[in-house]
Amino acid sequence: MKKSERLHPCPFCGGRAEARKKKRRIANEKNPPWLIQCSNPKCFAESGVFLSQTDAVAAWNRRTPIRQKIS
Ligand SMILES: [Zn+2]
Repeated sequence: MKKSERLHPCPFCGGRAEARKKKRRIANEKNPPWLIQCSNPKCFAESGVFLSQTDAVAAWNRRTPIRQKIS
């Protein structure tokens, strides 16, 4: 994964977030959609579903409180 796509920790539990590909495709889209999920099995936090990993990561990171500046 590129540095620009680095996921922020989960905003709810601070756990590690993971990008996942959905198995089911959205109609008329070639590529499977992506979503970001918290890796903590007790948390279940997840982003919405996006057509690219980059968009999913950006959406996840937007709602995460930024504690440190990423350079
Ligand atoms: Zn979490």
